[in-house]
Amino acid sequence: MDGTAIKEPSFRESVDLMFNRAAALMDLPPGLEDKIRVCNSTYTVRFGVKLRGKIQTFTGYRSVHSEHTEPVKGGIRYALNVNQDEVEALAALMTYKCALVEAPFGGSKGGLCIDPREYDEDELERITRRFAYELAKRDLIDPAQNVPAPDMGTGEREMAWIADQYARMNTSDINARACVTGKPPHAGGIQGRVEATGRGVQYALREFFRHPEDIAAAGLTGTLEGKRVVVQGLGNVGYHAAKFLSGEDGAKITAIIERDGALHSEDGLDVEAVYSWIQRHGGVQGYADATYIENGPSLLEADCDILIPAALEGVINLTNAQRIKAPLIIEAANGPITAGADDILRQKGTVIIPDMYANAGGVTVSYFEWVKNLSHIRFGRMQRRQEEARHMLIVKELERLSDKLGDAWSLTSTFKEQYLRGADELELVRSGLDDTMRGAYQAMRAVWHGRDDVTDLRTAAYIVAVERVAASYRAKGL
Ligand code: GLU
Repeated sequence: MDGTAIKEPSFRESVDLMFNRAAALMDLPPGLEDKIRVCNSTYTVRFGVKLRGKIQTFTGYRSVHSEHTEPVKGGIRYALNVNQDEVEALAALMTYKCALVEAPFGGSKGGLCIDPREYDEDELERITRRFAYELAKRDLIDPAQNVPAPDMGTGEREMAWIADQYARMNTSDINARACVTGKPPHAGGIQGRVEATGRGVQYALREFFRHPEDIAAAGLTGTLEGKRVVVQGLGNVGYHAAKFLSGEDGAKITAIIERDGALHSEDGLDVEAVYSWIQRHGGVQGYADATYIENGPSLLEADCDILIPAALEGVINLTNAQRIKAPLIIEAANGPITAGADDILRQKGTVIIPDMYANAGGVTVSYFEWVKNLSHIRFGRMQRRQEEARHMLIVKELERLSDKLGDAWSLTSTFKEQYLRGADELELVRSGLDDTMRGAYQAMRAVWHGRDDVTDLRTAAYIVAVERVAASYRAKGL
C-alpha cells in the first residue's frame, strides 16, 4: 500500500471524529467530553439454534452507548457484516439522535450476523426468539431499560416475535408490549411507524426548503417541486422517502441505486413501479422504463439537486467524495458519509443534512409507540368524537348565518368534510413527527447560523445534542 495514502477511519472512529470536531467548540467540564463519547458497554452473544438437522452458531451484539436517560433505544440489524465497531457507532448515533429530537432515551443498538434471505420464516422466528431470549435475560430488552426497534434486515415481523418472547418470559409485566417498538398495529404497534423514517426525511426536506437562506447556502432556488433527486437504496426508508417526495412534493426521482445496479431517467422514475419490480425480481435489472447502469455507485456522482443515501454506511468516502456533484445531501442512512468525505464535501460547499437528524423520524414514532404502549390506549381515542362534535357546532352556526346571507356564502362540501373529521391515530402521529422534525431543524440551524465557528449542519446537530446530554449528566451531579 502507498505510504502516503490516507486511511479511512472505521465507522465508530468516524462518528468519534465528528463528535470531537463539535466538542472542541463546546465548553464541556473536564472529563465529561470523554464520558459522553465512549460507549458504556457492548454485550456479545454466541448462541446455537438447531436448523436443518444441525446446530448453527450465531453471533449477536447489543451495545449501550449512553444511559443518561433510560430506557436506551435503538434498532436491531440483521446483516452479515454486523460487527462490534458498527453497533457501537450506531449506538452512539442513537444517543445524539434521541437528544436532538427530544426523545427521552439513551442510545443503544443491536445486530445479528446473519443474511436473513438465507432462512425461511420459521427458521428466522426461531433464531430471533433465541436472540431475544439471550438479550432479555440480561435486561437488554426491557420496557424500562432497553427498547429495540427495527433496522436494516428486520421489520414488524421480527419485532412481534421479540415482543412475544419477552411477554412469555415476563408474564406479569403489564407493560410488556413497550419492550420493543416497530411492532405491527395488531400486536401493539402504532399507525405510521413503517413509513416513519421516510416520512421524516420528507418533513426534513420540507423544513429545509422553508428557509431561503439555507436553500441559498446549497446553491439551490425554489421549492422541492421539480428538484432532481438521486436515491440510493429502495428499502423501507428510501422507498418511502422517494414515494412521498415524488408523489406529494413534485420532486423528480432521476436515479435509484440498488444492490445490482442503478436506474436512471431524467424524466423521473415511477417509484411504485420500480419498487414492485424489485419485489418481484430481486433487483432493478431488466426494468423497462429507464436506463440500467451496472455500476450502481457511480450514480452517487450523478448531476442532481438532492442526493439521498438511504442504504449502507460509508458509501461516500475518500474514493468518491471529490466527484459528488449534488449540492444537497440528506443522510437517510446512518453514517453514509465517512469523516474524511465529510471534510472534502464541506470544503466544496455541499450542504449535508446529517443522519442524526435526517433519519430520526423512525425513533420519533417509536417514542410515540412506546408512550402508547405504556398508556394502554390508542392516540385520539378519547378526543376524536368530541372534537368532531365541537366542529359540528361551528359548522351549524356558520350554516345558520350563511342561510341568511345567500348561496354565495355557503360552506363548500370539501371544507365541511375535512373540517368535521376528527384526527385519527395516523394523523396525530404525522402531526407529532412533523412538529418534531421542524423543531429539531430549527434548533440545528440556530447554531449553524448563530455561531461564526460553526459552518455546517452536522457540527450544529452535534452541539445541540451533546449539550442536551451534558445537561442531563450535570443535572445528575456527574
Ligand atoms: N433503527 C432506527 C434508527 O436507526 C430506529 C430506532 C428506534 O426506533 O428505536 O434510528
